[in-house]
Amino acid sequence: MAALQPVRGTHDLLPDDFRRHRAVSDAAAETALRYGYEQIATPIFEFSAVFNRTLGDTSDIVTKEMYSFDDRGGDNITLRPENTAGVCRAFMSNGLAQQAPVRHFYAGPMFRYERPQKGRLRQFHQFGIELIGAPQAQGDIEVIACGAAIMETLGLKDRVTLELNTLGDSASRDAYRAALVAYFQDHLAALSDESKDRLGRNPLRILDSKDEGDRRIVAGAPSFDEYLNTESQEFFAAVREGLETLGIAYALNPKLVRGLDYYCHTAFEFTTTELGAQAAVLAGGRYDGLMEMMGGPATPGVGWAAGIERLAMLADSPAPPPGIVAIVPLGEAAERRALQLAETLRRDGLRVDWAFSGAMKKRMKRADKVGATHAVILGDEELVRGVAQVKDMAQGGQSEVALDGLGPALKAAQAARATG
Ligand code: ATP
Ligand code: MG
Repeated sequence: MAALQPVRGTHDLLPDDFRRHRAVSDAAAETALRYGYEQIATPIFEFSAVFNRTLGDTSDIVTKEMYSFDDRGGDNITLRPENTAGVCRAFMSNGLAQQAPVRHFYAGPMFRYERPQKGRLRQFHQFGIELIGAPQAQGDIEVIACGAAIMETLGLKDRVTLELNTLGDSASRDAYRAALVAYFQDHLAALSDESKDRLGRNPLRILDSKDEGDRRIVAGAPSFDEYLNTESQEFFAAVREGLETLGIAYALNPKLVRGLDYYCHTAFEFTTTELGAQAAVLAGGRYDGLMEMMGGPATPGVGWAAGIERLAMLADSPAPPPGIVAIVPLGEAAERRALQLAETLRRDGLRVDWAFSGAMKKRMKRADKVGATHAVILGDEELVRGVAQVKDMAQGGQSEVALDGLGPALKAAQAARATG
């Protein structure tokens, strides 16, 4: 254990990272608000049963990736690996069924014990939306449209592809599952151990296998189309028609099955070719069976989650923060006056930096380093006259400004710079 290093697969978001991160989640939040979604936050840890029941015993997450532990009271707790189960738990705990359909969005850290690599972390962040209590295809169309709008806001519209599939209703899935099992039984010897293991429990997941040998077998597997009943076909047709009406381009991907076991009907991902194996930036689908699996009343739901780190890697650099001014007091009296002056300027709405000690040269260097637009130089002589010397850090010019009225003057100078 290296106590001064972050845990493998976790990282610090230093100010530049955090600005990118915030730009993504702020853009997503603004868009989701326009679609009528409101933010909620569920606890970062839940009873393990919340995830064990919903994600399914054979999912990668439950079998390999969860951070679970017994707490001091003996309860088995899991750091949330995703937030859909938590949001559904909250929907039931808080008796929100009367308000259905409800539209929620969330943003925050998730935890999975994975092999860390670029775009794959053990603590990562997701932004996601959930539409709960709407069985209609309009719901699927709306959540996808909201995702597409966010991609557009982030300038990623032409760099991501919306992949779309249907997993059908449970009757269709049962029929398809039986067909898949029969097919994979015939190719059992050539399957990877992991896929052999999945065959008995969740054969659909074999379609998602990243193993080369498996993929060759999967290429010849029966296709879901042939097993979709009329109802499922009609539902999928309605979703596609809605997307076409809205001009949202998509590519059908019959192999798209999603990592989690509770999905039905619509499954989708926005993918990129720019992040190697970490292709999915946003993924989701319909999960009508989830609440029942958790022991609640049957309640339909549809939603998605996006990886904030992956989006932040793709999106343009956000605008720098608004300009900061540096206070440079010289002399004991000025140093004392600076305390008040900094406070006044901050209350006026300016960003203020202030090194608490050091010679003028050192402080001017720092003003430069923090990217100050202006340095407010305050000497004992200026203090007596109630003025300060204001240096324009970019242009080098210097002028005398009265201390009362300094805030508005600096703001005006910054505004002029920003527009000029
Ligand atoms: P992958 O196939 O990349 O493992 P997944 O199917 O496990 O993804 P989801 O559970 O659908 O992913 O999560 C939604 C989104 O969250 C993903 O599309 C991705 O952008 C992001 N994400 C998932 N796992 C990680 C991780 N370990 N690190 C960073 N981002 C992640
Ligand atoms: Mg995964």
